[in-house]
Amino acid sequence: GFSYYCTASAGRERTLIAVKPDGVQRRLVGQIIQRFEQRGFKLVGLKMLKAPEDLLSQHYHNLQKKSFYPYLLCYMTSGPVVVMVWEGFNVVQTSRMMVGSTNPAEAQPGTVRGDFSIHVSRNVVHASDSVAGAEREIQLWFNGRELIDWDCCDHNIVCEFT
Ligand code: GDP
Ligand code: MG
Repeated sequence: GFSYYCTASAGRERTLIAVKPDGVQRRLVGQIIQRFEQRGFKLVGLKMLKAPEDLLSQHYHNLQKKSFYPYLLCYMTSGPVVVMVWEGFNVVQTSRMMVGSTNPAEAQPGTVRGDFSIHVSRNVVHASDSVAGAEREIQLWFNGRELIDWDCCDHNIVCEFT
């Protein structure tokens, strides 16, 4: 279990969220950002780019032996992505819930994938799956200067003890 109190370190947990090329093409960027804003998380980094293959191969290093890996690379390089870093209490676990199951056929309605996608090869969004994974991915996609340290005016309204 985890503490429901938002300690200084727990309140600063960060995760990497990416709108994949299908999400950008389908103009879902705004709706996806809105879900994280309204939940109470803080945006600390955001950019649009055409992801280079070597970056993707590091990002998906654990999937390189999978049969679908070439298709995954092709998908992820088919157009620009919008990558973001979101910060807040328990953001890694909560955002995985908000994004839904990897396979949209199993994703609950109300999740991003459950509301906007039907097939695992086009599942709209990425979310880091652990705190350690998030730290690795954030370092991969962003340099330190691109991550903004700022205090959101409601930080002690959405979470106690920040
Ligand atoms: P995630 O953490 O929920 O994104 O899932 P994984 O880390 O297991 O896989 C990364 C991404 O690879 C998924 O989001 C899908 O875009 C893609 N992927 C996973 N499994 C499959 C599959 O069986 N077929 C295809 N085409 N893509 C897959
Ligand atoms: Mg994953």
